This record gives sequence, C-alpha cells and structure tokens, in this order.
Amino acid sequence: MLTSRNTAPRPLSTTTAALAVAGLIGLTGLTACGGADADGSGKAEVVASFYPVAWLAREIGGNDATVRTLTKPGSEPHDLELTPRQIADVGKADFAVYVKGVQPAVDEAVAKHAKDKSLDAASVVKTLPPPAEGEEEHEGDQGHADVEYDPHVWLDPSRMATIATALGDRLGAADSAHASAYKERAQAVTAKLTALDQQFRDGLKTCKHKSIVTAHAAFGYLSERYGLQQVSIAGVDPTNEPSPKRLAELTGQIRSAGATTVFTETLVSPKIGQTLAREAGVKTAVLDPVEGVADGSSDNYLTIMQKNLGTLRPALECS
Ligand SMILES: [Zn+2]
Repeated sequence: MLTSRNTAPRPLSTTTAALAVAGLIGLTGLTACGGADADGSGKAEVVASFYPVAWLAREIGGNDATVRTLTKPGSEPHDLELTPRQIADVGKADFAVYVKGVQPAVDEAVAKHAKDKSLDAASVVKTLPPPAEGEEEHEGDQGHADVEYDPHVWLDPSRMATIATALGDRLGAADSAHASAYKERAQAVTAKLTALDQQFRDGLKTCKHKSIVTAHAAFGYLSERYGLQQVSIAGVDPTNEPSPKRLAELTGQIRSAGATTVFTETLVSPKIGQTLAREAGVKTAVLDPVEGVADGSSDNYLTIMQKNLGTLRPALECS
C-alpha cells in the first residue's frame, strides 16, 4: 500500500517524496468516491449486464471508463444469476447499463442498488409486445413474467443507434469531466450503427422469402425493422424446449412458408433446430442473436450483425 508509507518516520528522499505524492493522488482518488471514479483509477467504473450493452459501453467509454460485464463471456445470458459480490459491484459502480427483461437478477440489483445511476436500454426505444409464437407460458419462464415487451431491442441496429446516443449522454452526466469525449464516441458508434442499418435495408429489400425460423424469439425487432416474419422454436428464453406438438406445428409452418433454412444459435444447443430442419427437409445456418461473444474472439456487434446479414440473404433468396 502506497498510502501507508506516507506515515513512515523517515527523511524524505526523492523516492519517498514521489511515493508520498503517489499516495496523495491515491487518497484524492478515494475521497472522490461517489463521483465518477470509485476506484481511484481515474476512470469511471461501468457495469454492463451482458454483451450488446457492454460493447456499446466500451465503444463509448473508450479510455475514460472501465467496463465490467456481469455475464461470463460466451455464456447464455437469459436468467443469469448474480453472486453477492456482483450485486455489490452493481452498487459500487459509477454507472450501470442493462436491458430490463433479459435478466431479472440484474433488473433487481439495479433497482435496489443503482437506480439513479443506470440506463435501461429498452427504456429509450419503442418496444414491441412479446412474441405470440413459441411457448411463453412455459413453466420455466417465470423470469420474464413481469415484462410486457420483447427485450431483444439490440437486434435492430437503428434502435441500437438510439441507445448509443442515450448512453453517451447518460455517461456524460455521470462523469461530467469526460462528457464531451463520451458524446463524441457515441456519435461515432451511432454513425456505424446507422450505416449497418442501411446495409440491412438494402440487403433485405428484395427477397423471395420473408419468414425466418429462429431458435428463440430474439429477432422480433430485426424482423419488424426489415419486413421479415419470425417463427421461433422457443420463446423469448432459449432454454425453453418446445413440445412435440409445437415441433409438428413448426414443420407445417416451414413447409407452407417455403422457408429454406432453420436458424440455430451460437450459445444454445442446435439439436432441436437440426431435428426440425431434417423433419421439414431444409438446411440449417447460424443466426447469432449477439447475446454473448467468447473471450478472445475477434468478432464484435458490428461484424456479427454483418455475418447475420450474409446468412440471411441467401437463405431468404434476396437479390
Ligand atoms: Zn434472447
């Protein structure tokens, strides 16, 4: 501990003087606790619930913020449970960003410990009702019972752009010393998201098919934005397994829609999708709901969404 050396009864050599100064800086950082520098690092501490908002927070936070993600990289985020330490981290952070309705444990931790210093990404965009398809009344899905909208807002790049702007403003309010830097970076990422939105609009403008058969109901916003129709195997929560009756219904829907592909995901087992595709005599392909990215992956929200577009176009036979 640098600070303990300050009290050492020795003559001040150059080294100890330097240490004393360092100690004072450390103390200044600590006394600033409650402002946007809880750990004295000079950076705002941001807690993000899971990948899409963590990515945004990193893009916008730049060198002025340290972003910690509550969901382990590469793991499925729905119905995440938090450790007592993580709950404490939410309270200690300078700011928290999350999507209400994805992870009830996070919703609760933020409501209790970070209400005045948080952004619910779903609160700044127009939300859609939960999908009627799938099996929403499934017993295992209690976590989503209190949310009357579909929480997958990040899968529409235009909504993501709105969230980016809001996050830039809110981070600037929480850490006013760096407000202009947050705003600038928010503008840069908003521009990238707007360009991505344009790519999707152009790429999906003229397609032979409109139906996308997805593993769970993550693509409602993407479908609404680009004129597609989602048929989901599971509901909003990918861990819900469909009944044999539902699978038979889906096979019928795939055949009548003339769909060419059943889309599977990266973080949940593709087994059910593969079975369904075999039954219906169609292919499978991976459509990534960007709910988590493995550590060390070179992918990010933008590259994954571009891959998704590249997967959708041939599957829907777009020109
Ligand atoms: Zn999801």
